[in-house]
Amino acid sequence: METFERVYQKKWYILGNELDAFEKKYAEYNEVAHCIGVANGLDALTISLKTLNIGPDDEVIVPSNTFIASWLAISNTGAKIVPVEPDINTYNLDPQKLWNSITNKTKAIMPVHLYGQACEMDAIMEIAKKNKLYVIEDNAQAHGCTYQGQLTGSFGDINATSFYPTKNLGALGDAGAITTNNPILAEKARLLRNYGSESKYNNQVIGLNSRLDELQAAFLAVKLNHIATWTIERKALANIYHEQLKNIGDMRLPDIAPRADHVYHLFVIRTEQRDKLQQHLYNNGIDTAIHYPIPPHLQNAYKHLGYKKGAFPIAEKLANTILSLPLYPGMKNSDILYICDRIKKFYA
Ligand SMILES: *Cc1c(COP(=O)(O)O)cnc(C)c1O
Repeated sequence: METFERVYQKKWYILGNELDAFEKKYAEYNEVAHCIGVANGLDALTISLKTLNIGPDDEVIVPSNTFIASWLAISNTGAKIVPVEPDINTYNLDPQKLWNSITNKTKAIMPVHLYGQACEMDAIMEIAKKNKLYVIEDNAQAHGCTYQGQLTGSFGDINATSFYPTKNLGALGDAGAITTNNPILAEKARLLRNYGSESKYNNQVIGLNSRLDELQAAFLAVKLNHIATWTIERKALANIYHEQLKNIGDMRLPDIAPRADHVYHLFVIRTEQRDKLQQHLYNNGIDTAIHYPIPPHLQNAYKHLGYKKGAFPIAEKLANTILSLPLYPGMKNSDILYICDRIKKFYA
């Protein structure tokens, strides 16, 4: 309420001090030189791609099992989407599979740190370097996550994140940001988010209207003070699941790649009896969810790409077998133990 009062009293709602302050604070937090606040995560991805001049003649590699926004951003530029299958156990982009997807039109790789686990960034960065490709991290689900001690959102040439309310760092509405160490890309992203306008009524490029407003920036600056604590909580809760649910039926828990950190945006398990387990938990008062039930290539929106069932078998298998168990800061240990108990009863 104090934050709301302060911003309201100033009567300056767009591109002001609150945004400047949050951008500095988030850049520091993410250990990058520049942060550019935008309206949402999809715009952050779209603007990142446009900043790199990616367009209709280019190809961008993206996971086959991501949230559809990763794909939509590529569509927004007119570039060709080149899906690559994930590792079935970590759910993240499999670097070994990147090689076969690179052509002379490939411009960029978009690793997505899905569910809060860092992709294998050493291998991905090395492949990108060898092939002179840009890297754009989709860090929407992994605020505060690291790979070999380096924060996700700081590896790529330019990276995007979302502060949608349910993300690990969430605004009280839509919001997103771009992070980069490159001052030229940062400048261009700033132009693009504000009509391509350098100064008022002076337009350099064809931009968007995608600004992170003062009120959301001010709220986010307050919430950023708590993210470290929330992340510790998420990890502690996830550890209970890991301990309690070892070797139960055919259930597979999320695998963590050797040098990757996991900030547990979601705790996603896998079982052939997914629908039955979900119903059983629902009957016991436990709400679960599926992230995501239909992979992008089988969505109506992408019918024109001509992918049939079976085109990306790992993404499809995941869509049919994954289940997100409840996990959020503030959840009690006893809640997790109750859920684990009900899961054990299901398999007994
Ligand atoms: C949420 C999300 C986005 C999009 O963010 P919005 O702020 O909802 O536009 C993009 N990619 C991934 C992986 C996401 O989870």
